[in-house]
Amino acid sequence: MRSYSLLAAAKINLYLEILGDRPDGYHQLAMVMQSVDLADQIDLRPLSSDRIVVHCDRPDVPVDSTNLAYRAAVLIQQQFPEAAAQYGGVEITIHKRIPMGAGLAGGSTDAAAVLSGLNLMWQLGLTQGELQTLGESLGSDVPFCIMGGTALVTGRGEQLSPLPDLDSLYVVLGKYRSISVSTAWAYSTYRQQYSDRYIRDPQGLQTAHYQVHSGPMVSAIAHKDSLKIGQELHNDFEKIVFPQYPELVALRDAMQAAGVLGALMSGSGSTVFGLTESRAQAEIVQQTVRQALPNPDLDLWIAQFSPTGIRLGTLAG
Ligand code: ATP
Repeated sequence: MRSYSLLAAAKINLYLEILGDRPDGYHQLAMVMQSVDLADQIDLRPLSSDRIVVHCDRPDVPVDSTNLAYRAAVLIQQQFPEAAAQYGGVEITIHKRIPMGAGLAGGSTDAAAVLSGLNLMWQLGLTQGELQTLGESLGSDVPFCIMGGTALVTGRGEQLSPLPDLDSLYVVLGKYRSISVSTAWAYSTYRQQYSDRYIRDPQGLQTAHYQVHSGPMVSAIAHKDSLKIGQELHNDFEKIVFPQYPELVALRDAMQAAGVLGALMSGSGSTVFGLTESRAQAEIVQQTVRQALPNPDLDLWIAQFSPTGIRLGTLAG
């Protein structure tokens, strides 16, 4: 049985609106998600025993049963016991490039890569839709990470509508190493402060509201109108995260002053990104922000919008 190497793309949110509470305890969301080519590399090697072993080149990433890549492999073993009995276990090596607690879905995309990779390695023949359904139980961002590209994402993250690719756009991603935001904290704080504005009517939660609010962003993407995409960027989590971390407001302002199409926090933070129309422009923004905020704690990356979430890479060694 051969080994596989996969590249697992990070995502950013071009739009994130929290609509209300769902009966299952999750939030009902309207989001536009975009894959970017900042990616972890996930190597999968067959093991003759039925064990699942995870290695990671970053010591702060857990390699035990809490790792989402590990949990993805367990899920496949449980769902396909015959294949598991035939093929054994798997050694998962994560080459971590996506920062953690960053709102970039680093753990979710690793899980998406393991589901996609084991589907190939164990010849399960699952469709992308079937993989997405499996991924839902691991985390709300996993279905999108499997699909990749640009998509309107609703429900709790499981309803995906692909949108036209925007792969000519670039982002400058900025993250303070010392600032990571827990997604669970962000949702519970948002609920405490804003639940009085939640939509109560379940029908309203499911239908027209998406078009009203995320509609202008979806239309800007359909027309590939970069200026409008920059203007329509929106993330409800900024309302609770920015007051806690003034550094992130300064980072957003520095991106805007450097001439981006628009700047926004991704997911529940703490990454702030700025959009540009070219790599050359992204490099100017990166340098300008670095000069404006000469803090060694601030990491800045350039990434391009990616039409894919998970793709095959080359296995080293
Ligand atoms: P999201 O955008 O989905 O909210 P995030 O980028 O904010 O995600 P992650 O990088 O996925 O957050 O990590 C959040 C926590 O998940 C980490 O603190 C880590 O302990 C745990 N975790 C589990 N598996 C992984 C993994 N494969 N990679 C990174 N973190 C993982």
